[in-house]
Amino acid sequence: MALVGCAECGKEVSERASQCPSCGVPVKRPASGAGGLLKWGAVVLVGVIGLYWLIEANDPTREQRLMDREAYQLCLKMAVSTGNPGACEGMRKDYWAKYNREP
Ligand SMILES: [Zn+2]
Repeated sequence: MALVGCAECGKEVSERASQCPSCGVPVKRPASGAGGLLKWGAVVLVGVIGLYWLIEANDPTREQRLMDREAYQLCLKMAVSTGNPGACEGMRKDYWAKYNREP
């Protein structure tokens, strides 16, 4: 629990207290300024991420994309172990053409 200095008498007051127990002046909460803005920023950010996931989950190509990506990564693993990392470049290009992103 954080303590804030009372604006009136300077005594330390719990920031959860609505007023100073010593002089009765209402306690100023530091969170109401930049902290409040930060909180809203976090809420918006969570909303945007949530929306992104919602859209992503409803994407009809998602299943196919995940399978294609898995196939590419499997290919890559095998290609690297056989010392031929360029072997899956074609798959990667196909993936780019289909989904316009890195597999
Ligand atoms: Zn006070």
